[in-house]
Amino acid sequence: MASLRNGSTKSLFKLREIKFTKLFIDGEFVDSVSGRTFETIDPRTGEVIARIAEGDKEDIDLAVKAARRAFDHGPWPRFSGAERRRLMWKFADLIEEHVEELAALDALDAGKVYLRAKTAEIPGAAEFLRFFAGAADKIHGEVLKMSSELQGYTLREPVGVVGHIIPWNFPTTMFFMKVSPALAAGCTMIVKPAEQTPLTALYYAHLAKLAGIPDGVLNVVPGFGPTAGAAICSHMDIDYVCFTGSTDVGRLVMQAAAASNLKQVSLELGGKSPLLIFDDADLDTAADVALLGNLYNKGEICVASSRVFVQEGIYDKFEKKLLEKAKAWLVGDPFDPTVRQGPQISERHFDRILSYIEHGKREGATLLTGGKPIGDKGYYIEPTIFTNVKEDMIIAKEEIFGPVMALMKFKTVEEAIKSANNTQYGLAAGIVTKDLNVANTVSRSIRAGIIWINCYFGFSMDCPYGGYKMSGFGREYGLESLYKYLQIKSVVTPIYNSPWL
Ligand code: NAD
Repeated sequence: MASLRNGSTKSLFKLREIKFTKLFIDGEFVDSVSGRTFETIDPRTGEVIARIAEGDKEDIDLAVKAARRAFDHGPWPRFSGAERRRLMWKFADLIEEHVEELAALDALDAGKVYLRAKTAEIPGAAEFLRFFAGAADKIHGEVLKMSSELQGYTLREPVGVVGHIIPWNFPTTMFFMKVSPALAAGCTMIVKPAEQTPLTALYYAHLAKLAGIPDGVLNVVPGFGPTAGAAICSHMDIDYVCFTGSTDVGRLVMQAAAASNLKQVSLELGGKSPLLIFDDADLDTAADVALLGNLYNKGEICVASSRVFVQEGIYDKFEKKLLEKAKAWLVGDPFDPTVRQGPQISERHFDRILSYIEHGKREGATLLTGGKPIGDKGYYIEPTIFTNVKEDMIIAKEEIFGPVMALMKFKTVEEAIKSANNTQYGLAAGIVTKDLNVANTVSRSIRAGIIWINCYFGFSMDCPYGGYKMSGFGREYGLESLYKYLQIKSVVTPIYNSPWL
C-alpha cells in the first residue's frame, strides 16, 4: 500500500518567513479596506501558515481604478511590443532567481510536490512569460483588399482591463497562463487567486514590481469567491473576465457579466475525461498513463482521466499491472523527494473526496485498492481504484477532483467512442494504442479540447487547450490565448474619387 512519510526529515527546503500577505494594488502592498484577514492553511497538518488581507468589493474597486488608469493613461499599452517584451523577460529572470522559495510556497500552501514545483511548475512560469514576451512585438493587423472602392487595414488592440479568477490546484501555472498573454497584449489586470492558495500570487506581484512592470498594470487581490470574485464579474469597468474553476461558478460568472457591462468572458471549467486503452496497447505504458492521468497533482487537475475504459482482451492483465504500480506510488510529505502525491488541498475537499468513495462503494463498484485516508494529520488519501464501475454511477459521472479512478470495460471502437462522449464535459481525452487508424478515428470522434495519444498531460505552452460542452469555452496556452486579449479594429478610407467621398 502507498505509504505516508508525513513530517519527513528529508525536507528539501525550509521557508524562513512568509513575506507577502497584503493586497497588491497600484504597485503597493496594502491592507484591505475592511482591515479583515483570513487564514491560509498548510494541508500537510491543517495548521495556519499565515493570515492574508481579505479583499472585498471596495478593494476590487480600488484595484480596478488603478488598472483602468494604467490602461487609459499609463505607458503599458502604449509601450512598443519590444519594451513589454524586455520587462517580461526581466520578470521571468527574477522568477528563476527565486525558484526554491516559490516552489516551497506552493508546496506549503497547495500541497504540491516540491521537487516537481521546483523543476517544472515554477520554471514553467518563467517560460510562459518568455513565450508570450516573444509574441509581444509581433502583434499585427492586416491590410484589407476590399471589394468596394475603399481601402482598409485592421489593428489588434488590447481588450482593456482584465479580471483573472484562478483556482487553487495550480496557483503558479494558472497565474502565468493567464497573466503572460494579457501582459503581452498590453492589457492591465486584477488577479484574484483562490482563497486557499494566495501566497505565490502575492510574491509574483512583488517580482513584477522589481522587474519594472508599471504600477497599476498587475494588481493581486486575494479574497473569497462570492465577495471579491463576484465583484470582479459584475464590475462595470472591467472589460474581460478570464475564469478557471468549477462549472457551477462559471455559470455565475457569465450571468454577472451579462447583467453588468456585457464584458467578454472565457471559462475553463470542470471535466470527467476518458482514457481509452485498446487491446494492442503496451501494458506498461497503459498502466503508467492511467496512473499519471489520475494521481498526478493528487488528482486535483481538471483534465484528470478519471474514467478509464479498457478493451476486454487485455482488461484482466491491465488490472493486475495497474494494481502493482499503484502500490508503489508513494504518498506523503510533498517536501520529501521520493514522494509522488501530497495532501489534498483542504479538509473540506478531503471530506468531499472521501464521500465520493463511499458513494462508489454504496453503488456497488469494487474497490481494487485504496479508499481510505492516510495518517492522523493532514489531508492525505490513498490512491483509489474502483472496478466494476457502471457509466451511470455517480463516481463515473461527477468530477471528484481527487486520486480516484473508475475502471470500465469495452468491446469495440464504436462502443469506446460512445462511452467517451457520454458526459456533459469535454475537456480532454487519452488514447493508448499502436494502431494509427484507431488513434486518428477516435481523436476525431471525441468532443474534447485536447486529445493525448500514448501519453497524458502532454501540455506545452504553444499548444492550446480548453473546453467543449460544459467544460467551457475560450482557449488557454498558445497564441489562441493571446488573441483573446486582443480585439480587432478596422480602419477604412475611400480611394480617391470613389463614390464614398
Ligand atoms: P471554484 O469554482 O469554487 O473556484 C475557482 C475560483 O473562483 C476561486 O478563485 C474562487 O474564489 C472563485 N469564485 C468562487 N465563487 C465565485 C463567484 N461567485 N464569483 C466569482 N468567483 C468565484 O473552483 P475550485 O473548487 O477552486 O476549483 C476546482 C474546479 O476548477 C474544478 O471543477 C476543476 O475542474 C476546475 N478547474 C478547471 C481547469 C480548466 O482549465 N478547465 C483548471 C483547474 C481547475
